[in-house]
Amino acid sequence: MTTAIDVWGDYFSIAKWQAVVAEALESGDSKPIANINPNDSREFDAIFLGGGAAGRFGAAYCRALGGRVLIIDRWPFLGGSCPHQACVPHHLFSDCAAQLMLERTFSGKLWFQNLNDKMVSIKNIVELFRNGRTGPHAVMNYQSKEQLGLEFVLNAEFSIVDPQTIQVGECQFQAKNLVLALGAKPLVAEIPGARLKGVFNSQTLVENLDYEPANTIVVIGGGKSAIEYGCFFNATGRRTLVVARHQVMPMIKDVESRAYAILMMEEQGMEFLENAGFMAIQGDSQDKVKSVSIKTPSGIINVDTDFVFLGLGEQANSEQIAQILGLETGEKGFIKVNRHMQTSLPNVYAVGDLTGPPMEMFKARKEGVCAAKNIMGQVSEYKAADYPDFMHTHYEVCWLGLSEEEARKRYGNVKIMKLPPDNPNGFDVGLPAGDRMMLYLMAKPRMSGFQKLIIDGDTRKILGAFHIGYGAKDGFQYLNSLVKKGLTIDDLADMDELFISPSYFIQLCRLRAGDPHFKNM
Ligand SMILES: Cc1cc2nc3c(=O)[nH]c(=O)nc-3n(C[C@H](O)[C@H](O)[C@H](O)COP(=O)(O)OP(=O)(O)OC[C@H]3O[C@@H](n4cnc5c(N)ncnc54)[C@H](O)[C@@H]3O)c2cc1C
Repeated sequence: MTTAIDVWGDYFSIAKWQAVVAEALESGDSKPIANINPNDSREFDAIFLGGGAAGRFGAAYCRALGGRVLIIDRWPFLGGSCPHQACVPHHLFSDCAAQLMLERTFSGKLWFQNLNDKMVSIKNIVELFRNGRTGPHAVMNYQSKEQLGLEFVLNAEFSIVDPQTIQVGECQFQAKNLVLALGAKPLVAEIPGARLKGVFNSQTLVENLDYEPANTIVVIGGGKSAIEYGCFFNATGRRTLVVARHQVMPMIKDVESRAYAILMMEEQGMEFLENAGFMAIQGDSQDKVKSVSIKTPSGIINVDTDFVFLGLGEQANSEQIAQILGLETGEKGFIKVNRHMQTSLPNVYAVGDLTGPPMEMFKARKEGVCAAKNIMGQVSEYKAADYPDFMHTHYEVCWLGLSEEEARKRYGNVKIMKLPPDNPNGFDVGLPAGDRMMLYLMAKPRMSGFQKLIIDGDTRKILGAFHIGYGAKDGFQYLNSLVKKGLTIDDLADMDELFISPSYFIQLCRLRAGDPHFKNM
């Protein structure tokens, strides 16, 4: 690696990293950035191929346990796809969707500008992200180098010589273990026309969008990305049609909670076509999208559009490594691992999105840590299970545990506490509320959210919780751990709520907890 930029021993501030990362991304300069300690003669305990959530956290943990590790990544920054193309843009777009829903709801009233019939630029928001993302990249490089003492080679492609030897340029690196943390990429659609200009996925949207989409957008898929990005497009003022082969949002198992989430999206103007059959995207003479055909139970419909978004799930970045190393893979190329994160080869581990669903940051990071512990001799097992989950519509939707329907199949005495309570006006009741909900509460009560707690009336244990609104996500992280430890209605009743917050579960439980045979509420 004679041509690498050697940064070892030089202090790199966050501002300096930001300039280096921006320069490398803009110029496409492929000069590797090497941070390798020339004074450490120890063999590496592990080489992490990929420095995203799984690789960086695994490497940091290995190092914390006294090991020597090297991360190799093709991007000029550590942190992987989350800050570059995935979670961070998704959250930016979802923030915009929430803000725009508020502004459209109160358009022309109070101090709100008149947004009626106005479209907001998607291109400007994408450009805002593209220009701002080097900030988080710089922080992660700074943290990894200056605070965590990690060794790495960035902006570099590698080749595998054997399971203990990795080549970067002319340099070979040897390690006792190899950890594969190469992530995943959006599934390529098997739809005619899917490669036309104007067809995007979550990666290409932030990298390639260079025009302002017109007023109709077609989203293909019914899962998290499809809905999250669809709600953003809709909130910008465009007609947004979501086309799904099956149901939309099947991951929200509680029927009532899912219905509220869908109703609120429909009231924002989202259109859904479920159980849609054959689809084809047609292009014009310049291979640019001009329309989409969709087969529905009532016939084929054609929609004119210059922008199609594919949210179809992901496949592993495993083609090369699986073949070279002869690793066992499953559906969509996901690498098979045991509970220690070991692949079918001894001393080769795989972690993160590369090993398959759930494709979430906590799972990627925890798998990285699990591999690190095993490499450093601390026998460790991990399998993602019973975790809390969330997604964005124009709201934040959180859930954990069992749905009401699942709970009723398993328990004979299920009790429900929810807001708004059942009433003849449906959702037109001004509770629940909390931060970011108060304007809706006063002026459009039906938009102030929905929440539901599912309880086993016999043991008084919490079985599940659902919340649609804002501000519950943080709480659900902790609530889930408590529920797994057997949290009861009485424990919740004894907590100190920071009122007004999505803490209604606490106060609803307090209202009922005195009763040994409490009823639904
Ligand atoms: C649109 C979207 C939104 C999401 N939102 C959320 C969210 O809100 N919350 C959440 O928890 N999860 C979210 N996720 C999932 C989350 O982003 C992933 O689970 C997480 O990033 C996986 O981390 P990883 O380390 O496995 O992979 P990555 O972070 O993708 O890291 C893989 C690394 O490998 C490197 N690499 C790949 N191939 C090579 C190669 N040949 N040579 C060198 N380096 C290579 C890449 O450069 C990258 O740095 C979202 C995903 C998407 C697509």
